Amino acid sequence: MTLSTKSVSPHDPAHSAILPTYARADVTFERGEGMWLIASNGDRYLDFGAGIAVNSLGHAHPHLVAALTGQAQKLWHTSNLFQMPDGERFAQRLVEATFADRVFFTNSGAEAMECAIKMARKYHSANGQPERYRVLTFEGAFHGRTLATIAAGGQAKYLDGFGPKVDGFDQIAFGDHEALDRAITPETGAILIEPIQGEGGIRGVPAVCLRGLRQLCDDKGILLIFDEVQTGVGRTGKLFAHEWAGVTPDIMATAKGIGGGFPLGVCFATEEAGKGMTYGVHGTTFGGNQLAMAVGNAVLDVVLEDGFLDHVRQVGLLLRQRLAELQDRFPDLIEEVRGQGLMLGLRTRIPPGEFAAALRAEKLVTIPAGDSVVRLLPPLIVSEEEVLEGIRRIEAACVALSSKPKTVG
Ligand SMILES: *Cc1c(COP(=O)(O)O)cnc(C)c1O
Repeated sequence: MTLSTKSVSPHDPAHSAILPTYARADVTFERGEGMWLIASNGDRYLDFGAGIAVNSLGHAHPHLVAALTGQAQKLWHTSNLFQMPDGERFAQRLVEATFADRVFFTNSGAEAMECAIKMARKYHSANGQPERYRVLTFEGAFHGRTLATIAAGGQAKYLDGFGPKVDGFDQIAFGDHEALDRAITPETGAILIEPIQGEGGIRGVPAVCLRGLRQLCDDKGILLIFDEVQTGVGRTGKLFAHEWAGVTPDIMATAKGIGGGFPLGVCFATEEAGKGMTYGVHGTTFGGNQLAMAVGNAVLDVVLEDGFLDHVRQVGLLLRQRLAELQDRFPDLIEEVRGQGLMLGLRTRIPPGEFAAALRAEKLVTIPAGDSVVRLLPPLIVSEEEVLEGIRRIEAACVALSSKPKTVG
């Protein structure tokens, strides 16, 4: 039968000085080595969650450790009041690797999204059309937890009780083309979309739809914003997921994997889309500080290496094929396998939290999402052997959940 829920119950919030906004699993990790997390009791877990697509190069990657500790001994932070050569170099490398002409550094995904939204509004304002401040978003989206980004995401569970929703966001159903045409008004300034919804449950936008959005935006003078906070930095087997569709946005946010575990976000823009962001209109104290830039450059060193993204595509395909085999064997548990590269989801026929708990009992870390999906987001350095080890653990969890007597013990 199903596992007891004990393993997923949080520590008693009454004994914590931290606000009880999270349901933490009852496990403490003390150390990480590559694909592995080592718990305080010595148990070794295979990490197919990567701290929610953050630890793109796994744990304690020697190149990242060297970059961070090397910088830590020199200089941590000076503020953006002074020159930042490593930041300039990081920005230049990002611009050369993408559609963008300019970037802005933040500490998180939500802040990178805030910058993107402000930039779109400022663009139209600078064009003498300040009324075009509205942004079209899609049902099931997730863009962060600030007041503006919960309004952009439009999910009642994140908006409830926080006062009036920030104005300027119109949401339409995922994949409803007619609703899209109807929702565009003279006040629409931008369309914001995740190429693959992450928190929403690994729901991909077909390439043809992304191309259609690009065309629509071009026709109507609307800015196209991609939220690649989760899909970015190699996660799908391209540096950014939109490259699969062969279209580029005007503005893009990324975070999560770009810092490999260090808090870092980036807002990207074309010269044109960024033209309203002039001296003094936006800023951050911590964003782009020396520690962040050292780590960001080190992440790029690895991700931009020849063959790295080929590796992601190769192991991603292997993982997907083996998951499809498990789906065939356990149709009562796995309804669908979806996603791209190493951003994969299992739509489960039991609550995804329960499925993730069963996987954790097999010492495999995964991440539940919306739409009854368990996300598999291993560090991009995962080897074929580690993919197969993960598959063995998922298989064991499926066997346990199916309570087939022959496999007990
Ligand atoms: C995680 C996420 C965010 C928010 O990032 P934070 O760093 O948590 O603020 C925004 N958009 C998407 C698509 C995300 O997955």
